[in-house]
Amino acid sequence: MQSAPFTSPLAQGLAEDLLERFQRYVRIDSQARRDRERSPSTPGQLELGRLLVRELKEAGLDAVEQDENGYVTATLPEVGGAAGGGEDGHDAGPGAIGLIAHLDTTPDTPAAGAEALVHRAYAGGVIDLPRGGTQLDPASMPELGAKVGHDIVTSSGDTLLGADDKAGVAAIMSAVAHLARHPDLPRPRLRIAFTPDEEIGEGATLFDIPRFGALCAYTIDGSKLGELQDETFSAAEAIITIDGVDVHPGQATGKLVNALRLASRVVAALPDDTLTPETTADREGFIHPYLIEGTAARATIRAIVRDFDDELLEAHQRLLERTAREVVEREPRARLDVALREQYRNMRRYIERVPEAIAAAEAAIRAEGIEPVREPIRGGTDGSRLSEMGLPTPNIFTGGQEFHSLREWASLQDMAASAATIIRLAQEWATRQSPLGGREDSGSRLKDSGSGSKDSVGQPEDSGSG
Ligand SMILES: [Zn+2]
Repeated sequence: MQSAPFTSPLAQGLAEDLLERFQRYVRIDSQARRDRERSPSTPGQLELGRLLVRELKEAGLDAVEQDENGYVTATLPEVGGAAGGGEDGHDAGPGAIGLIAHLDTTPDTPAAGAEALVHRAYAGGVIDLPRGGTQLDPASMPELGAKVGHDIVTSSGDTLLGADDKAGVAAIMSAVAHLARHPDLPRPRLRIAFTPDEEIGEGATLFDIPRFGALCAYTIDGSKLGELQDETFSAAEAIITIDGVDVHPGQATGKLVNALRLASRVVAALPDDTLTPETTADREGFIHPYLIEGTAARATIRAIVRDFDDELLEAHQRLLERTAREVVEREPRARLDVALREQYRNMRRYIERVPEAIAAAEAAIRAEGIEPVREPIRGGTDGSRLSEMGLPTPNIFTGGQEFHSLREWASLQDMAASAATIIRLAQEWATRQSPLGGREDSGSRLKDSGSGSKDSVGQPEDSGSG
């Protein structure tokens, strides 16, 4: 059987380079760790970053750097007359477009020893992976059933694959290396960033947006073919700590207050037929306790709270806090602490300030022969916080599927389509009438997207009403 066709000759031409890169990146264990003490949380992310620095330099990019926090950045100069920025490469000015992927993989699934296996020309049916008895069954994975004939990339079965987000890293690397080899292809100044610790919500924390100097950016961190996302959840995290009274169980009569039991009761008291990830879809939010640990003396529950609507997010947090109080207050000798922390905001309102960002991406996806898929992300990306911080950053597909699981897989055809889309996106920005067309106000659009700045308007806000 012959492999399924690619979305374009461009994608086909990129595929083998992309696959080699992907396999190389997957082998480096760059799993993030929660409760990080420094950036990045693990040395594997620095190792992957160093490899990318070497490859970016070999490809001929400028201003290739890995900073002390593990962020890798580089510049591909513009071709075709779009506005440029600073001369030194990294102070690129507002005339640049950013491409971003993350170096780390999820801490929640085994990652050490990952190897990317290629199942050429998938014939349909169950794929048995060599280790751990892991199976990819199209009966429960309809996306896989739709990829008959594709070259399917999987893990060995006992680790994640790491397509989240090494498929995105490889797509960007293949695309910019191709652009660097083909100076005839128009592109704006491109700024590249590979970020650490996205999976623990810290990818944007130490991202230097002014130094990056882009009008907008794209994370290459989505999933299925054609995805283009400008909406994410708004997100909060809760850490609930319960202190009991620990006594030797032999002398515990009337004295022991078991924090672990109280914690289980809090979790059990939360709604379980609604407001859970497994009972909600589309635009519905949830409360998701994902870790409970401790002893009779002290127990901790960690939960994430999600919604697309900020007011509903607030309501879910209050419900979680109220439930914990009601349960724990029944035992006056126990103590309760509820710490709520905002993680990121729905990015839509920030991205709307640069409408060209979505228009150019839609045009690029269509130019690759794909119909854009516009669904809100039931999750977050680096782009959620970057957008809020002043760098509007929608998200584009990578071709990877079943992220964060041992069954994670990717279609090589779809991964190549992602890389080809990046090249077409560069062409879109270089050729369309856009804020990159050299006008002075391209910088003010960036400033506008920061909070409260109106200096670029040059007149009072109410001047239009008189
Ligand atoms: Zn990701």
